[in-house]
Amino acid sequence: MAQTKILLDESEIPTHWYNVVADMPNPPAPVLGPDGKPITPDALAAIFPMSLIGQEVSAERWIEIPEQVREIYQMWRPSPMFRAHRLEQALGTPAKIYYKYEGVSPAGSHKPNSAIAQAYYNKEAGIKRLVTETGAGQWGSSLALAGQMFGLQVRVYMVKVSYEQKPFRRSMMQTWGAEVFASPTNMTNAGRSVLEKDPTNPGSLGIAISEAVEEAASRADTNYALGSVLNHVILHQTVIGLEAKKQFEKVGDYPDMIFAPCGGGSNFGGAAFPFLADKAAGKNVRLVAVEPSSCPTLTRGHYAYDFGDSIGMTPLLKMYTLGHDFMPPSIHAGGLRYHGDNALVSQLYHEGIIEALAVPQVATFEAGVQFARAEGIIPAPESCHAIRACIDEALQCKASGEAKTLFFNLSGHGHFDMASYDKYFAGELEDYAYPEEAIRQALDHLPKVG
Ligand SMILES: *Cc1c(COP(=O)(O)O)cnc(C)c1O
Repeated sequence: MAQTKILLDESEIPTHWYNVVADMPNPPAPVLGPDGKPITPDALAAIFPMSLIGQEVSAERWIEIPEQVREIYQMWRPSPMFRAHRLEQALGTPAKIYYKYEGVSPAGSHKPNSAIAQAYYNKEAGIKRLVTETGAGQWGSSLALAGQMFGLQVRVYMVKVSYEQKPFRRSMMQTWGAEVFASPTNMTNAGRSVLEKDPTNPGSLGIAISEAVEEAASRADTNYALGSVLNHVILHQTVIGLEAKKQFEKVGDYPDMIFAPCGGGSNFGGAAFPFLADKAAGKNVRLVAVEPSSCPTLTRGHYAYDFGDSIGMTPLLKMYTLGHDFMPPSIHAGGLRYHGDNALVSQLYHEGIIEALAVPQVATFEAGVQFARAEGIIPAPESCHAIRACIDEALQCKASGEAKTLFFNLSGHGHFDMASYDKYFAGELEDYAYPEEAIRQALDHLPKVG
């Protein structure tokens, strides 16, 4: 059977990131301060370098990738794209399935695409230390790697449930020289306030963000780095979709539908937004963000101003949110346990330009195992969400006889998630019910602005 691996050479690594703001029908909603008024860029200068703040609010279509960043990208970029012939055959579908594999980076996911860029700009601004949060450990390990590349110290607040479920991600971060703490910690006011109310709190991305932001704001030599959610992170991730477009050109094909897992939105935006430029120009392509049904931000959240962290320290972003103090169930796709979503992803969803689907946990592992047996690669639990949605669409094509071209972003490998696969094989994985009451309560606490 034909194995189609679609490769680009190093000279085809994009020279510019793509900024979707240039092709959006409406300007992005402003970021608000605690007083409900739009903030000025320098309000963020305590925790981010001005270069990244500039990218956060930019409306320019193309932003040049610094040469040093492109050089490091060469370690694993361009990433391969595959035609999933064996999966198509296993499903008996007339659909064509393609996926782009971001697990070839040293950290095993798409996240170094932004970690390297963020470390570069912080180094350039004279910063010595970066602090961050991590869920499953994918972002923390990526920033630890990036810190090493640029000689920056890295401290990571790791969500406690993941710290316990994924001990080897912590070992990876330590191998790359980072300090790692299980969040909530008693080292910050934010962590202490959570532990006072609930000493066994399993942590969440929102809490870990509060801890990291608090530390960064209190030290001049230290900045904060975020692994998703913000516009500049999505911008850096557009290397995925830009390469994918060239890869589709090489084989003379084009996707009808694109699927990507959606936590904070960066790998979805990174893979899908470059295609949105074509959609804005009249091309018919559907972009589908896939989220867990236990943390259904786009599909069940409110479109409202909310904090990016749990405690309420960040500026207010207009986004789909489940409420900043919503505590998502402890699912194994730790990278998707976030109460909000990127503001551009949220606005485009609100305007009906992109779509979203929610899928339950057990079905995602079932899809991941089917994919691994057909294609060989063991996907990260987050990636399994996109695979589930793509397989479901391929099965619908089988029923209807339609030969659609489907594409998904295989955002990372699952080599550090085998304990989660073990639970699946032992029949111990849960499908959490939609946490209706918890979400209703959290939505009652939305800040009253906007
Ligand atoms: C972090 C992560 C995600 C979620 O990414 P977002 O960009 O926050 O939506 C998906 N897949 C993998 C492998 C991840 O590490």
